[in-house]
Amino acid sequence: MKRWNGWGDEKNNFDFELSDSSRKFMEGKLGKSNALPDATLEEVIVKVPPSRLPEHSLISIDAEDRLRHSRGQSIPDWLAMRSGEFGTFPDGVGYPTTSTEVKDLLQFAQKHDIVVIPYGGGTSVCGHITPEEGKSPVLTISLERMNKLMALDKKSQIATFGAGTLGPDIEAQLAAEGYTLGHYPQSWELSTIGGWVASRSSGQQSLRYGRIEKMFAGGVIETLQGTMNIPTFPASSAGPDIREMFMGSEGRMGIITEVRVRITPVAEHESFHVVFFPSWQSGMDATREIVQNGIQLSMMRLSNPTETETHLKLAGYETMVGLLEKYLSFRGTSEGKTMFTFGTTGSKGQCKFALKLTRSIVSKYSGVYTGPLLGKRWEHSRFRTPYLRHGLWDVGVIVDTMETCLDWSSVPDAVKNMEKGIANSLNDENETVHVFTHLSHFYGQGCSVYTTYVFRAGSDYPTTMKRWEKLKAAGAEAIVSSGGTISHQHGVGKDHAPYLEAEKGELGIKAIKELCGMFDPDGRMNPGKLIP
Ligand SMILES: Cc1cc2nc3c(=O)[nH]c(=O)nc-3n(C[C@H](O)[C@H](O)[C@H](O)COP(=O)(O)OP(=O)(O)OC[C@H]3O[C@@H](n4cnc5c(N)ncnc54)[C@H](O)[C@@H]3O)c2cc1C
Repeated sequence: MKRWNGWGDEKNNFDFELSDSSRKFMEGKLGKSNALPDATLEEVIVKVPPSRLPEHSLISIDAEDRLRHSRGQSIPDWLAMRSGEFGTFPDGVGYPTTSTEVKDLLQFAQKHDIVVIPYGGGTSVCGHITPEEGKSPVLTISLERMNKLMALDKKSQIATFGAGTLGPDIEAQLAAEGYTLGHYPQSWELSTIGGWVASRSSGQQSLRYGRIEKMFAGGVIETLQGTMNIPTFPASSAGPDIREMFMGSEGRMGIITEVRVRITPVAEHESFHVVFFPSWQSGMDATREIVQNGIQLSMMRLSNPTETETHLKLAGYETMVGLLEKYLSFRGTSEGKTMFTFGTTGSKGQCKFALKLTRSIVSKYSGVYTGPLLGKRWEHSRFRTPYLRHGLWDVGVIVDTMETCLDWSSVPDAVKNMEKGIANSLNDENETVHVFTHLSHFYGQGCSVYTTYVFRAGSDYPTTMKRWEKLKAAGAEAIVSSGGTISHQHGVGKDHAPYLEAEKGELGIKAIKELCGMFDPDGRMNPGKLIP
């Protein structure tokens, strides 16, 4: 069963306990820290108020069910779950199994003046699924029972899934037929295909498979105004694309019940590799050249010097890292080095060719190719890193991220602005923040900038929340002033909504509002999210 107050399945506890060296490293960066006390499940369950919902056969009003669907995975969500101070809970959780049952629940909501929150895997990191306080009862509709491969058109390479299908279940059902979707967000284990569409997700191998926008070919959406069935076309010039209206709609326009996606046969070969560049600038120049030359890699990630240092220190395999550091130093790459991880996926011949082309650009920029060993490590831990949040939490250290996407000409300054803004935002408390960045999701035009910040919990929950608010505001303001989008992949939800107008403009916001209002004139679909 999924943890009620943290990440992952209760059975998995990877990296829960920090190694001594990792703990010392963090202490050296931030100073000694103290863990905050955790509330127990029993203590929180008794705080869940009586439900205000009329009875319905598809709705559970069980207190624990409601509690488990109250929050996502943002830092405010973690602080609420760990302190036990949730504030709000949905009045019930609906479990439909078909589009018709979703329609029925929406009609029920309309009839009884109920607010509706669609719930996929609950992995939102921007407050997407938190119920707002209000007079109307709140019904969270979980898509978890709509979790099957419903149709497979092998000739057209189109698969239809129930919107609540989780990442591993999608890949397992497709692999049985020899296919893959290839969408691997770091939250893959717990997020759903409907959630990916509703929040415009991007997977780690977007370089090969594209973002969800490229995969989403059509589907079924139940709205308060009726059913929208979007057919699949390879391409169309018939006016605005209806799919675009629902991608990133964050539950404001309706509930996605079926998702039709473009799939490909499982690749013959896949491997991941690591290179170290002597400097951040050489790494940025080389990776831009690789992507702008159209070399067919499946993923790229360039860690800046602080992220490189942090990863190597927290990696947990000290002897190997020690030898690596010696080798890199011998090759003239030590202080200020940047780590470049990349993947090749395809036929054996394609992979060999892509590796050869990449290595020739890498050596032009004095990069040291270290082979596939560290790449294997990355592959092994690609979905395990989120579990590290637990180990840090237990010693009073909190980790969060901010991400954006910009044109290449704006990338270097944006990295500086984001890191500086975040690092200085707790100066008034004399608190140090450990900040580092990587570039990922590379495009010819630019890339995503992904900044991680690690800070100490305050003396209590309210102080910690205030710290996070300062950090988040500093990061978001730096993104806006650098000309970046407020999110490349996490979406808007509640936390990014105040910054949306800066990129959409007044007219753009009005158009989005009108569109949501057309489907939902009473404003009962996920109010308070997306639109400021
Ligand atoms: C550790 C961690 C790592 C992450 N890494 C990535 C990453 O690499 N790439 C990335 O893109 N994101 C990432 N995320 C963010 C998050 O996983 C994505 O936003 C994901 O797409 C959310 O999917 P979900 O099924 O969990 O949706 P939820 O969190 O349940 O919902 C998100 C939003 O979509 C709406 N929604 C969900 N399902 C439906 C539906 N069927 N119909 C209508 N609306 C719906 C909800 O109402 C809500 O507004 C990460 C999150 C965490 C915690």
